[in-house]
Parts: sequence; C-alpha cells; structure tokens
Amino acid sequence: MGVGTAETDWRVEEAVFIAGLRTRNDWIEATLDALGDASTTNEYVCECGDPACPQLLRTTRAEYEGVRSVATRFIVATDHEDPETDVLREENERFSVVEKMPGRLSRVANESDVRGRGETSR
Ligand SMILES: [Zn+2]
Repeated sequence: MGVGTAETDWRVEEAVFIAGLRTRNDWIEATLDALGDASTTNEYVCECGDPACPQLLRTTRAEYEGVRSVATRFIVATDHEDPETDVLREENERFSVVEKMPGRLSRVANESDVRGRGETSR
C-alpha cells in the first residue's frame, strides 16, 4: 500500500501488547477477589506502551471499572500517554485515561476486550 504501512505496524503491535496489560489487570482483580480483599483501592499496572514501565497505579475499583466501561480506553500513569497512538481523555493527579485512536488501534482494543465478548449474558 506504499508509504506508511511499516510505520503503522509498531502501533498495532503496541496495541496488542497493551491489551495484554489489560488482561493482567483483570487477573489482579480476580486474584484480589479470590483472596476476599475488600479494600476499595487496588494497584493496577500502567497500560502504556513501554514494556519496561514499572509504574503501578493506585485507583479505586470504581475508577478502574469506569475506564474499562469503554473498550478503547486505557489507564496510564501521568505523562505516559503516547500522542501518536492515544487521545488524552481524562487526567488527575494519580493517573490519566487515554483512548486509542480510531481505526486499527481502536479495533485491536475492541477485539481484545474479553469483557465485551464474554459477559454478554448476565
Ligand atoms: Zn507506563
């Protein structure tokens, strides 16, 4: 398709990587549930594109669930958004909420969201 094809690929790879982080946060929630942890704040991993990012985000479950209610939105540490792939939607002193750009990236985000598919029957 000409110029730009190779360039978009890393973005898609990154989107897939970030989807994996989201799965990890699901696992964190499930583990805490299994332990009977009733605390309202959890530590989530930063859902940015840096594989070496060590940041943990302390948010309430309601805050995280709010982000997760939109399949294309992700929680990242302040200033961890990537202007090439993310649109900043929300920002506070503890974390930022970004949305994947429309097109391939938001499609990866949508398709990788296990919640959107698995929990249609309630
Ligand atoms: Zn990060």
